[in-house]
Amino acid sequence: ITCSMSSRAPPKALLQDMVVPPRQLFGPGPSNMADSIAETQSKNLLGHLHPEFVQIMGDVRLGLQYIFKTENKYTFAVSGTGHSGMECAMVNLLERGDRFLVVEIGLWGQRAADLANRMGIEVKKISAPHGKAVPVEDIRKAIAEYKPNLVFVCQGDSSTGVAQPLETIGDACREHNALFLVDTVASLGGTPFDADALKVDCVYSATQKVLNAPPGLAPISFSDRAIEKIRNRKQRVASFYFDALELGNYWGCDGELKRYHHTAPISTVYALRAALSAIAKEGIDESIQRHKDNAQVLYSSLKKHGLEPFVEDENLRLPCLTTVKVPEGVDWKDVAGKMMTNGVEIAGGLGATVGKIWRIGTFGINSNKTKIENVVELLSKSIDETRSKL
Ligand code: PMP
Repeated sequence: ITCSMSSRAPPKALLQDMVVPPRQLFGPGPSNMADSIAETQSKNLLGHLHPEFVQIMGDVRLGLQYIFKTENKYTFAVSGTGHSGMECAMVNLLERGDRFLVVEIGLWGQRAADLANRMGIEVKKISAPHGKAVPVEDIRKAIAEYKPNLVFVCQGDSSTGVAQPLETIGDACREHNALFLVDTVASLGGTPFDADALKVDCVYSATQKVLNAPPGLAPISFSDRAIEKIRNRKQRVASFYFDALELGNYWGCDGELKRYHHTAPISTVYALRAALSAIAKEGIDESIQRHKDNAQVLYSSLKKHGLEPFVEDENLRLPCLTTVKVPEGVDWKDVAGKMMTNGVEIAGGLGATVGKIWRIGTFGINSNKTKIENVVELLSKSIDETRSKL
């Protein structure tokens, strides 16, 4: 038997250097990396069970408990982006025959419902028109009537810029024996959130928004009630990779000897450790306050330039991600394109909001007065330039 050598030439593109232009990321994510986080990306790797790495994982768990505001033992990070947090939560907390209530204020409620649908789970949706939240009384009523096993709420919907109020939903869930699941991917660290006070049973987030770390990990936390439900499942969790008890063991949440589960993305865990350290130094409440204060700077800059936020009720605006109405006769894409040629990213709408809005993310280090004023200045200038073309 002869083994023929491949004659295929290496791809030419790979013989060139990679092009990574500088960019100010003011879209809905990823945001810019802070220098202290970027530095961690060139540190040498450790093994995923080396004691020094285990120590770093322990620090990350403490940092996540601090920012989620929880005592939950099962607090760790799933290897994957925000979606992996959503999938991990849902494959563990739902089983066939369960009823699932989704509070839908934009794309992310639809995504959760779609995922449940793929799992063969019955879904009921309670929705708000885009740009609005669902009144909590309506959610409580839906819980009492539908008696779901799990309730999903996205705290900050990045497709609309709405911050859904969460108060008292957890009480209704406890009263009716439901678990309470919250998506904080676009909101954690940028608007108040207290997992334990809100009686949240599972919350997940992501690294690439307020935390200013690269995408690739989904912080997650399960309450004791959630863990009890998982332990008492009739069917095994259909995913090994997302099995919360296995992941919890690897992250040192159960006090048992750590087993190999998967190879953690070592460098991304370093980045998350650095991001949590930055928040610990500033203070989580101080970070939230800064995002709120700078959201005011953004609103007044918009006003100065004759632009309007999409979410009319100021109390329902997500401080770290603002949606802006595209003025009549303006092509949102041209404007975003112009900004990009100046090295600044803002995004258009997502899902139902495409064409109607721009989305400006001011996450973490990008929540800064001067930077925000400059972005709005450039937005206004770009609008004027595209208008003068007409
Ligand atoms: N939930 C929300 C609210 C989000 O904004 C996003 C990302 N834009 C996700 C979930 C999914 O996260 P990822 O893109 O990191 O998978």
